[in-house]
Amino acid sequence: MGRIDVAVLGASGLVGQRFVAALHDHPSFRLVALTASERRQGECFGDVPWRVGGHISEEVAQLPLLATDARALRDSGASVAFSALPTLTAATLEPQLRAGGIDLFTNAAPARLEPTVPLVVPEVNGDHLCLARAQPPAQGKLIANANCTTTGLVLALAPLVPFGIRRVVLTSQQALSGAGHPGVAALDISGNVLPHIADEEEKVGAETHKILGALHGPRIVPATFPVQATCTRVNVPDGHLLSLWVDTELHPGTDEVAAALAAFRGPPQELDLPSAPPQPVVVLPQQDRPQPAKDVLLGGAGRRAGMAISVGRIRTHGGSIGLVSLSHNTIRGAAGGSLLNAELALAWGLPPFGDRTGAPP
Ligand code: NAP
Repeated sequence: MGRIDVAVLGASGLVGQRFVAALHDHPSFRLVALTASERRQGECFGDVPWRVGGHISEEVAQLPLLATDARALRDSGASVAFSALPTLTAATLEPQLRAGGIDLFTNAAPARLEPTVPLVVPEVNGDHLCLARAQPPAQGKLIANANCTTTGLVLALAPLVPFGIRRVVLTSQQALSGAGHPGVAALDISGNVLPHIADEEEKVGAETHKILGALHGPRIVPATFPVQATCTRVNVPDGHLLSLWVDTELHPGTDEVAAALAAFRGPPQELDLPSAPPQPVVVLPQQDRPQPAKDVLLGGAGRRAGMAISVGRIRTHGGSIGLVSLSHNTIRGAAGGSLLNAELALAWGLPPFGDRTGAPP
């Protein structure tokens, strides 16, 4: 099968650039179109300051920045798009694009909790991709990935589900890139910590419940355990660090918890998907890890770098598990996670890539 032509929406932003980097030489997807806001139209992608690592080909640098509309995308040959649009822009434009027949893998928040929108972290709830079958047939499909903090959280929690999760208490220390570019003003964050991020704590709770919910036919029955989050912004470029306490019905020991986290695998690993890290949760034994400066790019080389989360400081006290986790917010928590959703949907033949047999168990 040939590669599928795709677009990146909001390509000039931090998540958009991560998409461009991850799609470089991708075995299944070929980047043919990029969009940006009106102020950039007429420019080429190479005119935009490059703010993330990775390679950009001359061919991609020459691509013009298009308007975000279905006709422009179809004219370029792309009927599937990865969306890195800002929240409010996505709320307006994504429904228009779907009405124009464009299938979307989105990073934006507005539709994440809609009942027929799969909200997927592929190792954790890849089976929820089936929900897109219930979306209106005349429209483009919409598949969402989670908020960047939620993604790191559910990857740390999923291996603990067999212990019976009763309650989660967490404090996040979230990187500057989580606020996009230009993000937080330097004078507000230098030598400082901001103890509130608008809407973040609510998103973390609701999205965790949906992702760890059970699929019953065409609907999700959400998880119900309390998730008590305090989300803060710190002066770190990339990587969201979470300090977690998880109350469980069973009382596993520290070694048992570490073994469950290290053994965790999902369909992306079984299928050896192009963006899948061989081990999605890496357990670090050192007392002073994980650290954003040292561990944020774990997962492998190329597009796999930054796709693994790391976990350390594992402690157990009679039914409470303490740990610290770290995930790359613009890679695993955004572009890389979204691309992995597309790779899994393609491998399983699920919408928007057809609906063949060989679908998930
Ligand atoms: P960002 O750096 O602010 O980038 C957003 C980009 O969207 C801007 O560069 C802007 O481009 C572009 N844009 C604005 N209006 C547009 C339009 N009508 N058509 C096309 N492009 C348009 O933000 P980000 O961090 O990349 O986040 C993008 C999305 O991902 C947001 O919905 C965010 O909530 C979500 N997300 C972000 C993270 C993270 O860690 N940063 C994690 C998960 C999810 P111009 O240069 O043209 O102004």
